[in-house]
Amino acid sequence: MKCFKCGKNEAVQDGLCRECYLATHDLVKVPDYIDLYVCSHCGAISSDGKRWTDYEDFNEGLEESAASRISVSRGTVITEEESSVIEKDPHTYVLKGHLSLKTGPIFSEKDFQSTIRIKTSTCPRCTRLHGGYYEAIIQIRASDRAMSEEEKTEYEDIVSSRIEEMKNISRDIFITQEEEVHGGIDIYVSKSRAAKSTARYLAEEVAGRLTESKKLAGRKEGEDFYRFTYLVRLPEYRKGDFVEYLGKYYRVLGVTGSTWKLLSMEKGNEIKVRGRDAEKFKLSAKKEDSEEWIVVSAGNGEIQALDPYTYRTITLRCADKPGEKVKVIRLGDELYALPDD
Ligand SMILES: [Zn+2]
Ligand SMILES: [Zn+2]
Repeated sequence: MKCFKCGKNEAVQDGLCRECYLATHDLVKVPDYIDLYVCSHCGAISSDGKRWTDYEDFNEGLEESAASRISVSRGTVITEEESSVIEKDPHTYVLKGHLSLKTGPIFSEKDFQSTIRIKTSTCPRCTRLHGGYYEAIIQIRASDRAMSEEEKTEYEDIVSSRIEEMKNISRDIFITQEEEVHGGIDIYVSKSRAAKSTARYLAEEVAGRLTESKKLAGRKEGEDFYRFTYLVRLPEYRKGDFVEYLGKYYRVLGVTGSTWKLLSMEKGNEIKVRGRDAEKFKLSAKKEDSEEWIVVSAGNGEIQALDPYTYRTITLRCADKPGEKVKVIRLGDELYALPDD
């Protein structure tokens, strides 16, 4: 069948030959101007001012957002696309590119160009963030002890990396503020559900206890608006400390999830204590409470060392062969030599 328009070539699509088809159809629609909103605080981009997207590379973000405005006619598919953006001034960019198209059996190529106009704005997240918006506070507190700087950093890292991960689910999840307060840290979180799951995770990680409370903070969209507090109370013992458990002394080796690993001071073997049972631990001595004793002699799994208070030579069990000095911890009436750590 011949093309009904030119009558010369073979018809390939809708009764037309390739040339006549392309001459009479606009396969691609590229707007002359593409308006995009850019958040002046975080660089997020939006096409409509409602839905915002974060991009790692700003130019790539512009390109992707602008290119999404290019449309093709029904039955046409883009088989290849190349584009780039060029900055004219901070509010004007040019989108340039090339498309390979397929319409039925017809393949064609098309260059395009459009001007991107940028409107500076503030995204809802930044509005909330800078307005100090929060739905919940994660409070981290130590029981009867000061929290070391190291510990604070550790807990802050656990919380912030958790929240960071959740940003992938919703960009409305963020930390509004972190505050060091007497006895611990307060972390303000934009979304209560995110705060809750993070607090729960932290409590598991450090074998702490989580309690939840809420306070009426006003009304939002006709409903009561509550602010939540998730209190994570840390146990008083830390890795390296000594605890009494069921009448015996142990050194705390660490905690994974809510399972504590303890080293028996008496027998030298490791035991595991899970969940609630750890609440029976009684702190006997801190890691820092150990003393340095001078070793007099050593052998057969024993050492003789000088008690710095009485200057008496005491025999202690010691699996390690110590150097000139050995660390000794007093637990109740007992003395234990510690391996080097
Ligand atoms: Zn024709
Ligand atoms: Zn923003």
